[in-house]
Amino acid sequence: MTDCIFCRIVRKEAPAEIVYEDDKVMAFMDINPANPGHTLLVPKAHFRNIFDLDEEVAAYLMKVAVRLAPAIKEAMGAEGLNILNANEPAAFQSVFHFHLHLIPRTFGDGIRPPWIPRPGDPNQIKAAAERIRKAIERRVR
Ligand code: AMP
Ligand code: ZN
Repeated sequence: MTDCIFCRIVRKEAPAEIVYEDDKVMAFMDINPANPGHTLLVPKAHFRNIFDLDEEVAAYLMKVAVRLAPAIKEAMGAEGLNILNANEPAAFQSVFHFHLHLIPRTFGDGIRPPWIPRPGDPNQIKAAAERIRKAIERRVR
C-alpha cells in the first residue's frame, strides 16, 4: 500500500521513532501518545485489520508484544500496560494498517476504561452466545 502511513514508516519513507524492528514487524512511538511511552507494534506487511490479518503474522506479533511489554514498562517506570487494538471505524480504527497499541499505565494517570461493567441481561447474553457459537461452527471448524 503506497499511501498507507504505516507502510511508509516501515519503508523508512516517513519519519518515526522506531524502537524495534526485525524482518516481520516494527515498533515505533505513537505521535499522539495516550501516555508517555505509547508504542505501536505493526506487521511490516500491510493488513487492514484483524479481519484480513494472517494468523502466523498475528501469532508472531503477539510473541514480540510479550517481549516488548516488560521493556516498555521498565523503561517508562510504569505500573501496568494496556494492549489495545481497533478494527474498523466503528471500533475507533483511524489508521488502516493493523497495529497493537502498547500503552504504559500508572495509577492516577487519568486514562479511563472505555466501558463501565454492568450486569447484562442473561437472555441477551445467552442469545449472543448462541449466535456466536453458530458462526464459529460455520467459519472456524
Ligand atoms: P487507531 O485509532 O487504533 O487506528 O490508532 C492509530 C494511531 O496511529 C493513533 O494513536 C495515532 O496517533 C497514530 N498515528 C497516526 N499517524 C502516525 C504517525 N505518522 N506516526 C506515529 N503514530 C501515528
Ligand atoms: Zn500499510
